[in-house]
Amino acid sequence: MIKKVALACSECGSRNYSTTSKKESERLELKKFCNNCNSHTIHRETK
Ligand SMILES: [Zn+2]
Repeated sequence: MIKKVALACSECGSRNYSTTSKKESERLELKKFCNNCNSHTIHRETK
């Protein structure tokens, strides 16, 4: 089963990206560009 997740900026909390994850237990953490912070920040998986 493929899980649909949103990625939220850990700095400001805005949801900038959406992705899919096959792993149920693992929490994704990706370094992505945040338009709100205007820099690259850690983005975490959220529902
Ligand atoms: Zn941000």
